[in-house]
Amino acid sequence: MKRLFSLLLAITLLTACSSSEPDKRTILAMDTVISITAYGRAAQGGIESAESVIRELDSLLSVTDEESEIFAINRGGRAADLSEHSISIIRKALELGEMTGGALDITIYPVVRAWGFTVGEYSVPDSELIYSLLENVDYSKIVLDDAGISLPDGAMLDLGAIAKGYTGDTAADALREAGVKSALLDLGGNIQTVGAKPDGSSWRVAVNDPFDPQGEPFGVIELDGSAAVITSGGYERFFEQDGKTYWHIIDPHTGYPADNGLVSVTVTGESGAVCDGLSTALFIMGRDAALELLDSLPGYEALLVEKDGSVTVTKGLLSSFSLTGKEGFTLVDTI
Ligand code: ADP
Ligand code: MG
Repeated sequence: MKRLFSLLLAITLLTACSSSEPDKRTILAMDTVISITAYGRAAQGGIESAESVIRELDSLLSVTDEESEIFAINRGGRAADLSEHSISIIRKALELGEMTGGALDITIYPVVRAWGFTVGEYSVPDSELIYSLLENVDYSKIVLDDAGISLPDGAMLDLGAIAKGYTGDTAADALREAGVKSALLDLGGNIQTVGAKPDGSSWRVAVNDPFDPQGEPFGVIELDGSAAVITSGGYERFFEQDGKTYWHIIDPHTGYPADNGLVSVTVTGESGAVCDGLSTALFIMGRDAALELLDSLPGYEALLVEKDGSVTVTKGLLSSFSLTGKEGFTLVDTI
């Protein structure tokens, strides 16, 4: 009897243990490393369907893949019969363009390409060239309706600023639909959570040090349920020429890398696409304009890091953010 009891106890402990062990998968897509961690009995199936939507979106949205839908739009300047995903990501990007006063502009591609950021062959373009390319940059001239999409002359799309966030949303939906209640997606540092952690504790999301991205994080954000945490920073892709640093986030008003005093912007909220688009746009807008916009967006909070290491945290994030104590960072008051 005693042996039977201990056997039962061992089995119970084993089951308890295995059900709390997550399933994990790492995949290479969207020019980055994506990892999926899912808990519970539905985890395997959830990961399968998340991976398949990630692969599908990767092949639809890539700006350099000649087979992609975006490539086809850019080649012809128009396209009919767009996929649901392309329609909804472009629609979201246009809304965000409007919301951010054109800081996010998905017709920026010819300028991004002239700087060499799409293929990694960097150089500072001639100012005349930037000026002439900018003439065709204007997201508000895109026509998107039931018949398809048409771009103004000379315009080309780049969804790089929101693609990973949108993909996080879609992969999180796929996990939920498969019955997963608890999961974490990491898309090259952009985080998307599904539900709470199985033991009820908070997810702890590290925030990269923009001055030392490979080193220890400078802060941690705690999340209690489904949310995205997405960071944009000049440190993610840049080059140096003649002692000056140029990064991949371009101010559509000037055609040059945005330089408004910020070194990184982290946005958290429900939608990954919105967080991603906002993090890029707020980086371009600078601290004051960023805070003003965030004030009008309930449910979206941010962390703005300036060149001198001062960190502004919006009110709704104060209680769930903490500095790790790493030297060089100070919290400043939100007004
Ligand atoms: P990352 O891709 O490093 O996560 P972001 O989400 O900030 O960073 O997106 C930056 C990418 O967005 C650039 O590589 C470029 O393709 C594109 N981009 C740059 N400037 C703009 C802009 N003003 N509006 C829309 N897209 C932009
Ligand atoms: Mg972005």
